Amino acid sequence: MPSHKLRVAIVGGGVGGMVFAVALSQHPDIAVDIYERAQEFTQVGAGVGIWPRAFRVLQKLGRGVEQGLLRVTLNEWSEKYEPSIIFRRGDLSMGHDLFQLVSKGNLMRFHRADFHAVLLAHLGPSITTHTSKRLASYSQPSASQPITLSFADGTTATCDLLIGADGVRSSVRAAMMRDLATVQPPRAEEFLSCADPVWSGIVSYRMLIPAEKLRALDPNHRSLTETVQWCAKDGFVLSYPISLGKYVNFVGFTADPALMASAYSDDPSTRPKFQGEWVRQVSAADFKRVFPQFEPEVQTLLDVGEGGTIWSVHVTRHLPTMCCGRVALIGDAAHAMMPFQGSGAGQAIEDAYLLASLLGHRTTDGSPQAIQKALAVYDHVRRPYSADVARRSQYNGRLYTFNADFGPEDPRKMQDVMTRGWEWAWETELDGDIRRAIDMLESGARATA
Ligand SMILES: Cc1cc2nc3c(=O)[nH]c(=O)nc-3n(C[C@H](O)[C@H](O)[C@H](O)COP(=O)(O)OP(=O)(O)OC[C@H]3O[C@@H](n4cnc5c(N)ncnc54)[C@H](O)[C@@H]3O)c2cc1C
Repeated sequence: MPSHKLRVAIVGGGVGGMVFAVALSQHPDIAVDIYERAQEFTQVGAGVGIWPRAFRVLQKLGRGVEQGLLRVTLNEWSEKYEPSIIFRRGDLSMGHDLFQLVSKGNLMRFHRADFHAVLLAHLGPSITTHTSKRLASYSQPSASQPITLSFADGTTATCDLLIGADGVRSSVRAAMMRDLATVQPPRAEEFLSCADPVWSGIVSYRMLIPAEKLRALDPNHRSLTETVQWCAKDGFVLSYPISLGKYVNFVGFTADPALMASAYSDDPSTRPKFQGEWVRQVSAADFKRVFPQFEPEVQTLLDVGEGGTIWSVHVTRHLPTMCCGRVALIGDAAHAMMPFQGSGAGQAIEDAYLLASLLGHRTTDGSPQAIQKALAVYDHVRRPYSADVARRSQYNGRLYTFNADFGPEDPRKMQDVMTRGWEWAWETELDGDIRRAIDMLESGARATA
């Protein structure tokens, strides 16, 4: 029986939970249990784009992960400046290109299920997976006792460290915020206001279009080979090929500008909750009804579409902290954001890798004090970064939907502002933040030695 310095429970086997588990596989002295509420580890039928900064983090998970990912995408990994997204004015009888976004390195585009399958295949022997395990609650007694997890099926489990990777509707976040409100009554309102997600004013319509069907109608349709975004007042449509060209990923958005603008307001009363269902199936006819104002190229996509899902896009408020004692949040549980920089998953990947590096570091010896120190450093480094990305995403949404203070009449300015606001995703690396975090951990360890 190998001895482990630490037993970690991860609640949620989505992008963040899975990357965290693969990263912890590099530290076999840490035992990991992943608890996923679904019957199997999989993802919604939709695409996901990964920018170079996040893809470089995935490369750190090992050659097997990198090669596995490259086998399921049409995109080649590149360090050169590459055309990434064509932005078009879409709400005219015949639209026109506004500009082409150029990024250093490709936007790597995947079917979410393919992406997930690669990660799942690279879990190390120190990782144990559990499906059909929906966390109902947890209790964190004194530091000398393990944390107890209680599941909806009536079973329980224990761990030394609990990571909430359970997405935007996180049960771990809700319980953590309630705990913090109890121990810090003067700040109770602040903590409790962050327990639940809030609607962003955005609704998204997602479907996968069989590429063969599109090719039969229009063999030169750009969505078969390129990433194209059609912008319009209060809505936009994005498409790109995934699954080695088998499908075209279609995602259309409608925006309520008043609510979009208020999504990060400090006043919760300005952000009413979405009243409808969170996710539901809709028909091809529903898609056509929502996007009639778009040009013929988009109508062709809608003509061959077979229906899909409608999602009310929720976000979290900026949390006062992402950890409490020996419990921490990663990914959307900590900072669900508007998806307008294609970076929510990227931020989950960054959280996961940086936190795994801290936990795997030799100074994190498994004692409650060492765990709490690692979590405090993680919170210090990652929370402002993801909040900044959330703000940039929100601003991109305003540009795409012509709700900024300039618009398609000045495409050059749109291009400049958008490129500058997005450069972090391809011009910078997580490595500097990892080094800074490790320095903090080591200097903290020296100070307490
Ligand atoms: C329309 C749209 C397009 C997007 N496009 C992109 C993109 O191109 N690029 C990008 O980087 N990001 C994109 N995002 C954002 C991205 O999808 C999320 O940021 C990312 O999935 C977050 O990963 P996560 O692991 O934190 O959460 P999730 O992927 O939501 O995973 C959470 C997991 O936890 C499980 N779970 C939940 N509750 C419990 C519980 N109580 N017990 C046990 N398990 C539980 C869930 O079943 C799920 O498996 C997009 C988002 C939207 C809405």
